[in-house]
Amino acid sequence: MPALSGFAPMTEHSDAAEPRPFALPGGLDTDADTQDLGLATLAIRTGHPRTAEGEHCEPIFTTSSFVFASAAEAAARFSGDDPGNIYSRFTNPTVRAFEQRLAALEGGACCVATASGMSAILTTCLGLLKAGDHIVSSRSIFGSSTMLFDKYLARFGIATDYAPLGDLDAWAAALRPTTRLLFLETPSNPLTEMAEIAPLADLAHSAGCLLAVDNCFCTPALQRPLAHGADIVIHSATKYLDGQGRCVGGAVVGDAKTVGEEVFGVLRTAGPTMSPFNAWLFLKGLETLELRMLAHSAAALELARWLEAHPQILRVHYPGLSSHPQRQLVGEGRQQRTGGGIVSFEVAGGRAGAWQVIDSTRLCSITANLGDTKTTITHPATTTHGRLSAEAREAAGIGEGLVRVAVGLETLDDIRRDLARGLDPR
Ligand SMILES: *Cc1c(COP(=O)(O)O)cnc(C)c1O
Repeated sequence: MPALSGFAPMTEHSDAAEPRPFALPGGLDTDADTQDLGLATLAIRTGHPRTAEGEHCEPIFTTSSFVFASAAEAAARFSGDDPGNIYSRFTNPTVRAFEQRLAALEGGACCVATASGMSAILTTCLGLLKAGDHIVSSRSIFGSSTMLFDKYLARFGIATDYAPLGDLDAWAAALRPTTRLLFLETPSNPLTEMAEIAPLADLAHSAGCLLAVDNCFCTPALQRPLAHGADIVIHSATKYLDGQGRCVGGAVVGDAKTVGEEVFGVLRTAGPTMSPFNAWLFLKGLETLELRMLAHSAAALELARWLEAHPQILRVHYPGLSSHPQRQLVGEGRQQRTGGGIVSFEVAGGRAGAWQVIDSTRLCSITANLGDTKTTITHPATTTHGRLSAEAREAAGIGEGLVRVAVGLETLDDIRRDLARGLDPR
């Protein structure tokens, strides 16, 4: 496990005689200490800013700025000689605790927390790219990510081309001399297509590029892209990291130079900063992340198998099914530990059939959000993917009969009964 790192270690203070107000409990502040710890221990025990009050739960630091003992200390903080806190746009102990915890889980040296998942992607691009640079992205990424690349970054001279997620030759063919960043999501939304990260990382590195993986669907509980050669992991913390649909946030994880300097530099200057209140909720979310992801996966697998056997269902897309084309990437010790919580399926009868399933639910929430304890149900063709042309949707395999379910943690039989209502002949 690489070193945990924030940008201002909480244990270091300029005056050694002072108490250590932010000391980490149990010495979880060195490389050696975290090496042998399991994922759940890291999720519960790393990044704990304990104050002199001795509180057991992580405190929320609701302060915009921090005071200095002297003019000399202020100067040392601003020059970087003293790594202590300055101002909550870029140094807040609660936010840093979340950053350290997520960095530990992803196995990265540095993490920068942001106001949202989209600002994590924006901050990464602003930190690493300049006018004239080129991105190659997988085609089936989050809709706002496509908009960011095509509508906004394009205005500043950054061009993006798209490749089918699993087609390595197409990625190679899309590279230009100016390509700097490869960007992908695996599994894809909503069809759960998967890509093997390691060959794409090799391709990126042989072309002098960085590979960024949006790990929102899997989280580090199921997939750790850095261990497969990716350079940057991006999160919408809004989804599974929080896990209960409470707040919006994001994060970027990677090495000390790429993320600790280049991405952090944009955050410090431009300020797409995570609120300490939200950081505290995400800290609490991370503590149950592994438990939740395994429970979401177990329920989704059972639901997917039931749907696959249902006569009204034409096809089920779920990474854990033996019918999934990239099934070999899923399992303990493989790229993706379990299938995750997202299942999509094609209902007989096109849009009418899909809408009947959605409108017959009483329990599932009809909303495009995902990663919540509450099961959500969506019709991608008319919502998340409604901005695509009919041809583009068809090419992407998102038909009118497709329904996406983000399986929550309610009693599974209740979810199954809720879906059966719109599927079974009346
Ligand atoms: C939701 C989502 C985002 C954007 O995150 P926000 O927190 O909503 O800004 C990015 N990527 C994926 C895969 C998402 O699901």
